[in-house]
Amino acid sequence: VPGERAPGGLVLVQELVNTGLRVPSDEPRLADLLADPGAAGRWLAAALAEWAQATGQPVPPLTLTAADLGPLREVREAIRVLAAPGDSGDAEPGLAWLAGLPVALSMQPDAHVGYAPAAPGWRGVAALAGAEILLAQQRGQWPRLKTCPFPACGIAFYDVSRNASRVWHDVATCGNQTNLRAYRARRQDGAAR
Ligand SMILES: [Zn+2]
Repeated sequence: VPGERAPGGLVLVQELVNTGLRVPSDEPRLADLLADPGAAGRWLAAALAEWAQATGQPVPPLTLTAADLGPLREVREAIRVLAAPGDSGDAEPGLAWLAGLPVALSMQPDAHVGYAPAAPGWRGVAALAGAEILLAQQRGQWPRLKTCPFPACGIAFYDVSRNASRVWHDVATCGNQTNLRAYRARRQDGAAR
């Protein structure tokens, strides 16, 4: 995860968004960790262990099959739009993925209420992500989890600035307007060909 880690279980949402970049391109880029079951399985095991450590709860027994990867990538992109700073109006966050996702509550030994995904596969990962978004919204942390609006980036970062005013994950690269113009020119050039 580049930049500051999101606090507590919200780190799972940050890790999910950062499994891939926003724009498919033939330029060399970081691999999409949700592109094949092997890489996705390794990512999920690490992300769930991180979540369990951050929340003090057991590691949820979730796995991903090849059929889970497409839906989970769609959830990832919906969250990326949901966490984009400002209201650019570029894209409406599709939130249909949240509907009816089950979360199981339990009483933990220390009298805290525990929560765990109650569905397998991508729906389980999405349920846990949805629960963490809910908790972050209740705690006032959600507005600080942001996705970089540079079209070729989209990285999720946690804004620890005093007034939560950061827009770009890195002003020097993604916030550089020359880069942005060059990127747009390349995209238009590519579309014209
Ligand atoms: Zn960026």
